[in-house]
Amino acid sequence: MDDVTTDLLIIGAGPTGLYSAYYAGFRQMSVVVVDSLPELGGQITAMYPEKAILDVAGFPSIKGRDLVEGLVAQAATADPTYLLDRTATTLEHGEDDVVVTLDDGTRVTAAAVLITSGIGKFSPRPLPAGEGWVGRGMEFFVPSFAPYAGKDVVIVGGGDSAFDWAQHLEPIAASVTLVHRRDAFRAHERTVAAVKESTVEIVTNAQVTELRGDGHLEEVEVSVDGHEPQLRKAQALVAALGFVADLGAIQQWGLVTSKRHVVVDSAMRTNLARVFAAGDITDYPGKVRLIAVGFGEAATAVNNAAVVIDPTAHVFPGHSSEG
Ligand SMILES: Cc1cc2nc3c(=O)[nH]c(=O)nc-3n(C[C@H](O)[C@H](O)[C@H](O)COP(=O)(O)OP(=O)(O)OC[C@H]3O[C@@H](n4cnc5c(N)ncnc54)[C@H](O)[C@@H]3O)c2cc1C
Repeated sequence: MDDVTTDLLIIGAGPTGLYSAYYAGFRQMSVVVVDSLPELGGQITAMYPEKAILDVAGFPSIKGRDLVEGLVAQAATADPTYLLDRTATTLEHGEDDVVVTLDDGTRVTAAAVLITSGIGKFSPRPLPAGEGWVGRGMEFFVPSFAPYAGKDVVIVGGGDSAFDWAQHLEPIAASVTLVHRRDAFRAHERTVAAVKESTVEIVTNAQVTELRGDGHLEEVEVSVDGHEPQLRKAQALVAALGFVADLGAIQQWGLVTSKRHVVVDSAMRTNLARVFAAGDITDYPGKVRLIAVGFGEAATAVNNAAVVIDPTAHVFPGHSSEG
């Protein structure tokens, strides 16, 4: 990947990062957004895409994935450059800029940086039997459905992502089997009911004990209630076992932190020049970690970054409905 130069670098493409990207465009900034995940939407996409969110201003009820879709459409007006599946690892100051290096070696030079990294980098919980199978039939994420057309798919897990993907893949896959280690599910009841009524086979109290195939996945061994494992034909397996979060390298950047959060002032400035933070990652007296709060902090951070990037600019942007 070539090195990139931008006005604003946003680290984290959760709801706060996406809204910040929109706002950067509104302030005429060029904007780059980096995320460790291959998909946009942060915690919402990773943990509760199907959940109805009831406390976002203007939406009495909105499904997680619909909120993310709206945020992505709104952010598109800023024409952001997304660098996904890449983690920000180091941060250094130049004379009038900040250089952030990503784990693939890409260097992003920015006039200002906005950290919206939430609870940190997510790593998928591993499927012990799946070690070495990623890219050979096993995935942790389903960013698009088309590659699963006509395949026998096994999905492991009992949460929203597992059921959501089962529901979406059922019409196009040859077969979908959902394997879960318990007989209770954490997913949204309506989705569970819809999947139960579909052709998806749900196997509970079960574990995937082995993946088999010559190069690419061909069969999956499933053991029910600890009984003798049975083989199932499968060309694709999705391990939807949830995620663990880790603040990682950000803790080594010299930021003042408090209990794994970055301390900011009322302008969302961190202790480092040109570096701002917003959303779940921030801490200050009275902090409340909610999507709605992250949106407000995003606007505050970007408007204050605008003045750092261009000292002749004003903090107050004017109203978006004007002009
Ligand atoms: C099950 C559940 C239900 C919830 N329900 C609600 C609700 O109903 N209402 C509500 O307001 N809130 C809810 N929340 C909380 C809400 O999801 C968070 O407040 C919100 O996601 C915070 O957004 P964010 O953009 O600040 O951070 P996140 O959503 O955490 O996004 C941060 C992003 O940064 C990325 N990242 C981290 N470190 C790096 C790095 N070094 N390099 C690159 N990328 C990095 C991560 O991969 C992630 O995508 C819920 C949370 C959970 C878990």
